[in-house]
Amino acid sequence: MSLSDQELIQQFQQVVGADHVITASADLEPYLIDWRKRYRGQAIAAIRPASTEEVSKIVKICAAHHIAMVPQGGNTGMCGGATPNPEGCQIVISLQRMNRVRAVDTSNQTITVEAGVVLQTLQEEAAKANRYFPLSLGAEGSCMIGGNLSTNAGGTSVLRYGNARELCLGLEVVLPNGEILNSLRGLRKDNTGYDLRDLFIGAEGSLGIITAAVMKLFPIPVAQWTALVATPSAEGAVELLNRFQAGASAQLTGFEMMSDESLALLKHYYPALASPLAGPNPYEVLVEISDYESSEHAMQLMESILEGALESGCASDAIIASNIAQARKFWDMREHVPLAQADDGQNIKHDVSLPISAIPAFVTTCNKMLREKYPNIRIINYGHLGDGNLHYNVAGPSSAETEHFFTTYSKEIQALVYAEVEKLNGSISAEHGVGQQKVDYLEGHRGSAAYQLMRAVKQALDPHNLMNPGKVIAL
Ligand SMILES: Cc1cc2nc3c(=O)[nH]c(=O)nc-3n(C[C@H](O)[C@H](O)[C@H](O)COP(=O)(O)OP(=O)(O)OC[C@H]3O[C@@H](n4cnc5c(N)ncnc54)[C@H](O)[C@@H]3O)c2cc1C
Repeated sequence: MSLSDQELIQQFQQVVGADHVITASADLEPYLIDWRKRYRGQAIAAIRPASTEEVSKIVKICAAHHIAMVPQGGNTGMCGGATPNPEGCQIVISLQRMNRVRAVDTSNQTITVEAGVVLQTLQEEAAKANRYFPLSLGAEGSCMIGGNLSTNAGGTSVLRYGNARELCLGLEVVLPNGEILNSLRGLRKDNTGYDLRDLFIGAEGSLGIITAAVMKLFPIPVAQWTALVATPSAEGAVELLNRFQAGASAQLTGFEMMSDESLALLKHYYPALASPLAGPNPYEVLVEISDYESSEHAMQLMESILEGALESGCASDAIIASNIAQARKFWDMREHVPLAQADDGQNIKHDVSLPISAIPAFVTTCNKMLREKYPNIRIINYGHLGDGNLHYNVAGPSSAETEHFFTTYSKEIQALVYAEVEKLNGSISAEHGVGQQKVDYLEGHRGSAAYQLMRAVKQALDPHNLMNPGKVIAL
């Protein structure tokens, strides 16, 4: 460690205390590697401020000395956005100690939380106030609201409640020069000038550090019914979705799809979560209906839509969860697919979104093209079908071959899949973001005009490129 690093560390220690400037390599390790273990970096230190003022002071020190900063929440991101670069010249700013609930306003249906509040804790705090916070995703036990907002996280309730962006009314942000931007207003309407809040949502820490947010709350549904439905094809899954949209409208709160190969992988790594439906089925779909009237009303709705679907042939079998434990198990099935993939080894991830009507064509074309070119591959295709979002992931023929397959074929398979996405007017990142993984694809995907505007925004807010450089956009 050079002397200047030591002097810097002393300055950080004066702000947050020596215990919260982490430099010992064993303690630093978890901050340097991402959840997928795909990216590994080095850092001068990981700093753990406890207040917005402390974040501001740390950022001012970094700005004065031109030290690049990497904001980090729960470190569950999928694109390496929270991992520092390998040169060891950056610092990680972890928001994990900023974990207070600042206010709950049940009349305004809002909760004001600091960025380091874990998503599950936020859901629990809402429930304590007899309210519902709908953002939900597999990593909710460790991801944090600041990370959720910075990635504009999606999850399993987007089709009814929207992404993290739609759930946020106001933000507090520390800008790259250390200044605090306070827009912590719980307003549903505010047409005064440009919408600065939305700039920081989905910016993956490249424009500033979110330190707190005002989030929307909702009434708790009276009843929720969950069903697992087998469907013969991607076309069938889309028809089933359309039937539920027509029949249940806003009461449809979840619609998740899993392919046969996703279910086989799940069964292999988590046998207790094997599908209870007779199979294999080309696809199984998890459907959730929420109701504000009564349990009977929700059940009638579920049964009548399923009856029609079974008659039409877009569903071939279905089980409605008979109790909360079984409903939980259905959700566990869906949430454990990415965990089974992680157990299996590396896979080539595509977090794509498409117009829902284009999904069957996308799946048919890509499956055929990839299977012809790479025989015996496993296509682990699952996702938030209700949002047009597929996790179309490709793995080598067996667990033993995943690393070799990943290293050898990632680039060419990604290029093939993304070309199909572009043809169908889709997006190469539905919910995981760009991070460092997709920086090289951004310009081609968004086009020159949009890309130049994004560069101009980045340069205006962060002229010295100190806020998470190398992520989202290359300057
Ligand atoms: C099992 C599993 C399931 C998942 N399922 C989903 C899913 O269904 N939907 C979905 O959208 N994602 C999903 N993810 C991805 C991930 O959980 C989300 O992207 C999540 O929102 C990241 O939150 P985090 O706190 O872990 O952020 P981190 O990983 O720590 O950071 C993510 C990015 O945000 C930046 N950042 C973090 N905190 C701040 C802050 N306070 N201010 C500014 N920038 C910040 C980081 O620099 C980084 O660029 C899943 C991940 C796992 C492991």
